[in-house]
Amino acid sequence: MSTENTSDQLFNNSVKILTDLIAFKTISGEDNSSLINYCDEILKKLGATSFKTFDDEKKRVNLFATLKAKHPSDKKPIILSGHTDVVPVSKGWSTDPFIATIKNDKLFGRGACDMKGFIACTLAFAPIYSKANLDRDIHFSYTFDEETACIGAPILIEELKKRGVKDGICIIGEPTNMKIIDAHKGCYEYTTYFEGLAGHSSAPHKGVSAVEYASRYVNKLIELREKLKERTPKDSIFDPPHSTLSIGGIFGGIAHNVIADKCHVNWETRPVIKEDGVFLNSELDKYANEVLLPDMKKVFSNSSIIKKIIGEVTGFDRNKKSNACELVSNLTGDNTREVVSFGTEAGLFQEIGISTVVCGPGSIEQAHKIDEFIVLDELKKCLSLLDGIKRQSISN
Ligand SMILES: [Zn+2]
Repeated sequence: MSTENTSDQLFNNSVKILTDLIAFKTISGEDNSSLINYCDEILKKLGATSFKTFDDEKKRVNLFATLKAKHPSDKKPIILSGHTDVVPVSKGWSTDPFIATIKNDKLFGRGACDMKGFIACTLAFAPIYSKANLDRDIHFSYTFDEETACIGAPILIEELKKRGVKDGICIIGEPTNMKIIDAHKGCYEYTTYFEGLAGHSSAPHKGVSAVEYASRYVNKLIELREKLKERTPKDSIFDPPHSTLSIGGIFGGIAHNVIADKCHVNWETRPVIKEDGVFLNSELDKYANEVLLPDMKKVFSNSSIIKKIIGEVTGFDRNKKSNACELVSNLTGDNTREVVSFGTEAGLFQEIGISTVVCGPGSIEQAHKIDEFIVLDELKKCLSLLDGIKRQSISN
């Protein structure tokens, strides 16, 4: 077989698998087990071992599969990682979002670039890895619910820790047009619920206005936002360089003349360093528990302030010397390093000591949008990166 034919076949196979993957409606929060079983079967047939981890209801699944080294060496294992969920679709698509449609040089479908394209490439390439004389393990990591604040990956990471997987090189194939991304801020989202006591507005002293306490809480957040600016790290690589904080909404109250007993505040922060997230939360919790709550309880002892974590996507820190970035640079020739404004699972892998890079086919420009697509040539570029990994993972 000529190389030309092999690479054509490989490309066609990646398109076929991508078509299959898009047909699974794996919107975040919904059952993704059929897609996971599909991936697991392909890899198992090739001799991979695998394990699954689940959400509490066992409806949503992470898969971690391994093609073992035939000639183990001291080379670090490689983890090819992608999330299997996609964002919901809104009206206005030109094609069925769950039927892959090729037009000219593009393939349209929900998840085409974010990020089933990458998963399809890894599955299409797996037969080649399985036949190669691998001298390191190659892992395939497919997670659930990344789009809703990285809910699936931490469950997988816990299991990896238990199994002693704490070393390696991880490539997260989020759409970067195959450019190297080596850092992003964290993204922490919260909702804080206030519960006081309703009453007639003419007697404010007999009620506890949840809206008023929520307002004081929001003011504290705004005050702390200024403190975050003062804490800007000297060598920050981000724009803006400091941790940000934003109030997304305040909801409470029913009428002009009724003291509101319920109110909640949606807010988020994007820390440039983990310590900022810790600082902010501890200052805020202290204020809520030591100032606001005792005050509320003076009038109504069942008053409460409850902060619920919606998601805490760990930041991804730049390492001057990164095995993962160097590997990709060697294979693609791209020596640039960029930061992005979106969050990924990279920080979670990095946190357990795995050298991580974000690099994958397609553009974030098309992600989360109507008529999401991937330029087919991007799949070819990704396959060639995977081919480079093979060359770096066989003994001579
Ligand atoms: Zn994504």
